[in-house]
Amino acid sequence: MAYHYDVIIIGAGVAGLYAALQINRHKKVLILCKAQPWDCNTFYAQGGIAVAKNKDDILLHIRDTLNAGAGMCDTENVEIMSIQSLEVLDDLIARGVPFDKDETGNLLFTKEAAHSTNRIIHAGGDCTGRVLHSHLITQIPHTLWKNATVTELLIHDNRCYGVNVLTKRGNYNLYARDVIIASGGVGGLFEMHTNAHTVAGELHGMILENGLKLCDMEMLQFHPTVFVQTTRARKPLLSEALRGEGAQIVDKDKRRFLFDYDSRGELAPRDTVARAIYDYQQKYNAEVFLDLSMFREHFFEKRFPNIARTLHGFGYSCYDPIPISPAFHYCMGGIATDTNGKILGMDNLYAIGEAAHTGVHGANRLASNSLLEALVFARRATFEILGKEASTWKMREFQPRNDILECEYDGNLKQILRKLMWNKVGIIRKKSALLEALGGVEVMLQSHIGRLLRLRLLTAKNIIESALLREESLGAHYLVE
Ligand SMILES: Cc1cc2nc3c(=O)[nH]c(=O)nc-3n(C[C@H](O)[C@H](O)[C@H](O)COP(=O)(O)OP(=O)(O)OC[C@H]3O[C@@H](n4cnc5c(N)ncnc54)[C@H](O)[C@@H]3O)c2cc1C
Repeated sequence: MAYHYDVIIIGAGVAGLYAALQINRHKKVLILCKAQPWDCNTFYAQGGIAVAKNKDDILLHIRDTLNAGAGMCDTENVEIMSIQSLEVLDDLIARGVPFDKDETGNLLFTKEAAHSTNRIIHAGGDCTGRVLHSHLITQIPHTLWKNATVTELLIHDNRCYGVNVLTKRGNYNLYARDVIIASGGVGGLFEMHTNAHTVAGELHGMILENGLKLCDMEMLQFHPTVFVQTTRARKPLLSEALRGEGAQIVDKDKRRFLFDYDSRGELAPRDTVARAIYDYQQKYNAEVFLDLSMFREHFFEKRFPNIARTLHGFGYSCYDPIPISPAFHYCMGGIATDTNGKILGMDNLYAIGEAAHTGVHGANRLASNSLLEALVFARRATFEILGKEASTWKMREFQPRNDILECEYDGNLKQILRKLMWNKVGIIRKKSALLEALGGVEVMLQSHIGRLLRLRLLTAKNIIESALLREESLGAHYLVE
């Protein structure tokens, strides 16, 4: 059976949902996501969405974003993002997203690291992603297939004719006039990460196997503080706002060792703190803890309800030392796109959200700019799709692939890949370790493996090769001898 759509959207995070919302119900749109719709990074976003507060703030927001990006940002796209943040905010308010407000009904703006002013809007306290996602999904007028894993992009010449998708009911080719990739980042490639389990860079691998380009994949952001006492690779994030409000990072003797690395201690920039913790753990084989005992329990539960709930779930209160580590968090690089999210070299294939490279983050992301990027470029991509003249493209049928998607030992190899990426392509990099990682990935690529693992390996290989090409430290790419 062949299915035909106007638009297929791969991914049901903020990028995919917001794109779908721009397209009216008379178009035939299909959203695909791997597990449940809430299994996405969007759902876990805590802090908020950065926006220019008003027209006067645009220049400052642009400047803060460019500074964080360490000279590697695409200035045009940064300008677009900041200017259009005003329209996106109006649109989200018109759609009734319940952002946090003061008693008189004015939006509350908070501040995060490296922003010169309070310009982060938030919802549900520290549950912005969950509130946003839950709100947008109820408004979607289109069909959504959950448990639907895209395994292939059906590409011929410069056109994407659709996707191959694996569902519980079987494997299908689905065809569409336009296809949007909103499949998120690459968290699943790392042993420690903050990302949803569905996010593993497979679509990035499909881009590479079709001879298309990924950009700046060496630029990976690591979060300094996640809770580590869980068996899963995904580790709950402990927001930087905790340190902003007084939480301390200590070793088992309660020593605040961060001051050995930077006089700003806990308030040093995110990268510095992540590197210091990682270095201390490696050098002294030490456990590291977050000390929250200065908070009164009542205050902690009110100010950080999400984090308090998570810690309680694992049997911890704010009076216990919380075992922490840094973890992979966000991918600044991605699928190379133009200013409307169209993938370079393609006629009708788009990438938006964390999957895409728009260049707005450069070598390092300014806090809370990622949800904004996803919203702004999702809108731009759909506007371009809707504005196109109805072209007379010719349908092309593809034979279903017979590739084995998963082999017996793929699970073990995935764990090996994760350790390799965490230990050798992580927070502190060495050329020799990168070369070892590359060798390891190449050996795995030669093994008897399933297609889904092969796609992850292609993405990992691209990250390592990009890191090897950048021979000096810059932004999130930190190289030592
Ligand atoms: C813990 C945490 C906190 C964060 N806090 C903030 C914050 O406060 N502010 C901010 O701006 N950013 C934050 N971020 C980053 C931000 O949440 C993400 O960059 C953003 O949500 C990405 O949205 P997305 O729609 O691109 O991808 P996601 O929300 O990750 O969605 C990806 C979708 O793609 C689907 N998918 C993946 N592969 C396939 C496949 N092969 N087939 C079918 N479907 C597939 C998944 O199932 C999922 O539906 C945070 C991230 C994390 C992890």
